[in-house]
Amino acid sequence: MGIRNYSYKLINIECLPTSVHFNLIMNFEDDISELLPYIAARLPGCTYIHGTNVINYPEKYHIIAIKPKEITITRIKDSREAKEICEHWKNFINETEKMRGSISPVYEKKLEIGPLDVFKALPGTNCGECGLPTCLAFAAAVVKREADISECEPFFKEVDPELRQGLMERLEQAGLVERGIARNERELNERSKSG
Ligand code: SF4
Repeated sequence: MGIRNYSYKLINIECLPTSVHFNLIMNFEDDISELLPYIAARLPGCTYIHGTNVINYPEKYHIIAIKPKEITITRIKDSREAKEICEHWKNFINETEKMRGSISPVYEKKLEIGPLDVFKALPGTNCGECGLPTCLAFAAAVVKREADISECEPFFKEVDPELRQGLMERLEQAGLVERGIARNERELNERSKSG
C-alpha cells in the first residue's frame, strides 16, 4: 500500500538554538512496512536492515529516516520546502508500490565506504585547497555528504587514474556521487590509455 494522505510539521532543532533550519516530520495513516525492502532497493547509499523498520538515507544535506508511518527529514528551510519534499516522497513511495513487481527487494543494505577508504585514495598532501585543513577531514566530510569529491582538485590531477577510478566507483555505489560519473571517469581513463 502507498500513501494516500499525509500531514506534516516542522520542529525547531532545540540543541542548536542559532540554527535557521527545522526538522520535518511527515505522518501518514497508511502502513508502508511491506514496501520498505522495495524502497531500500531504489535508494543508492541508504542503510536498511530488515526488521528494524527504518531506512536511513542521506540525501544532499538532509538525513532522511523512512519508517512504516512516518518520514523524518533534517535541515529544512521553510514550509515551502517541507511541502515540496513531502510531495516528492509521497510520489516516490506510490511509484514504488506501482513498480513493486519489477523491483528486487533488498533486506540488508549498508553504506560500505568509510572515511579511511576515501582518505587512502586522496593525495595526502593536506594542501587545504578543498577548504579543510587535512585530507582526513575532507574524507570524513565526503562520507557525511558535507563535501563533494570534486572539491579536491588535486585528486583529479595528481592521483593515479586506476586508484581514482576505484574510489569513484565505490562512491557511486554508496550514492555519494551522481550516477554515471564513475563511468565517465572510466571512459576518460580508457581514452588516455589508448591515446
Ligand atoms: S584539496 Fe585534496 S589534497 Fe588538498 S587537503 Fe583537501 S583533500 Fe587533501
